[in-house]
Amino acid sequence: MKPNRLMGLGLVTAMCGALAAGSASAQEQRFVSVGTGGVTGVYYPVGGAICRLMNQTRRDHGIRCSVESTGGSVFNVNAIKAGDLEFGVVQSDVQYNAVNGEAGFAEGGAHEKLRSVFSLHAEPLTVVARADANVADFDGLKGKRVNIGNPGSGQRALMDQLIAEKGWANSDFALAAELAPAEQSSALCDNNIDAFAYTVGHPAGAIQEATTTCDGVIVPVEGEVVDKLVEDNPYYFKAVIPGGMYRGNENDVNTFGVGATVVTSADVPDEVVEAFVNAVFNDFDAFKALHPALANLTPEDMVGQGNSAPMHPGAEKYYREKGWLE
Ligand code: GLU
Repeated sequence: MKPNRLMGLGLVTAMCGALAAGSASAQEQRFVSVGTGGVTGVYYPVGGAICRLMNQTRRDHGIRCSVESTGGSVFNVNAIKAGDLEFGVVQSDVQYNAVNGEAGFAEGGAHEKLRSVFSLHAEPLTVVARADANVADFDGLKGKRVNIGNPGSGQRALMDQLIAEKGWANSDFALAAELAPAEQSSALCDNNIDAFAYTVGHPAGAIQEATTTCDGVIVPVEGEVVDKLVEDNPYYFKAVIPGGMYRGNENDVNTFGVGATVVTSADVPDEVVEAFVNAVFNDFDAFKALHPALANLTPEDMVGQGNSAPMHPGAEKYYREKGWLE
C-alpha cells in the first residue's frame, strides 16, 4: 500500500468554505481507491479514466475516487481482501483463482467476499524479445534472460502456470527476472534481459517503449500446451496481437490470454458500487473514448463475460434496470 493513502471508505468531514468545525452544513465526503498496475500498462490509465468520470459527478454522490499504481492483479485482490482498496482491476484468471481458492490462492483460501463489477478489454500474453536475441517463439525463451514479472502481478501468475504446464522451472532461464512492468522495457533496450512477458491490453505504453526505443519483437505463444490450457480453463482464450500496432511488428502474432476485470468487496456499500458503474455506463461513449483498448467494449459483454465472482448487488441492480442481466 502506498503510505500516502490517508483513509479508506470511512466517512470524513470536509469543511465547507468558512463554516466552523462541527457545523451542520459541513459536508460528508467518502473516498474510494482503485488499484491498477504499472504506469506503462493499460490498467492505470483506465482506472484514472473511471475515477475522472466518477469525480465529475461528485456533487451527486459525494465520493472522491483516486487511482493507485500497484504491483498488479494479485496485489489488488489481496489489498481488497485486507480492506486497503475498494476496487481493483484484475485479470480474469486471477479473479477466478482468488474466488475459488486455486493456483496461487490455494494456500490463503478462497476470497469469499470478492465481488465482480464488470469486465474490460482482452489481455493477450505479450512476449517481447530483443531483435538480436534469436527468440522465434515462447520455446525460444529457454536459456535466455527473461522477465517473468514481479510477484503480485497478473503476468507472473500466468507465467507460473504456463511454466509449470510446460514442465519447465525458472532455472530453465539463464535469468528469471522479477522486474515491475515500468522497468522491463528499458531493461530490454539496455540489454539487461533478452525478453519479457506481459499480460496487457493494447496499445500499451510498455510495448510502445520496447518497440520504439529499441527494436523489440513480439513473438508467438502457441502449441499443444497452450491448446490444453485454453481447453482446460474457462478464463483463457486464444488471442491475436494485431500487426501494425507497434513499430517494426507488421504481422499478426498468435498468442493466448485473459480478460481484464474490475472487482470489489462485498463490504463495499451498494450505493458506492452503483455510483462507480453509473460513472462508466451513463456516458458509455465518453468512457470508451478514454483509451483505445476500450474502443470495442459493449455493456453486454462487460456484464456477461469474465466475471467469475458473484456480481456485487450495487452493480447488479443497475444492470437489471438496463436489461443487461436476466
Ligand atoms: N495484467 C497485468 C496485471 O494483472 C496488468 C496490466 C496493466 O497494467 O494494464 O498485473
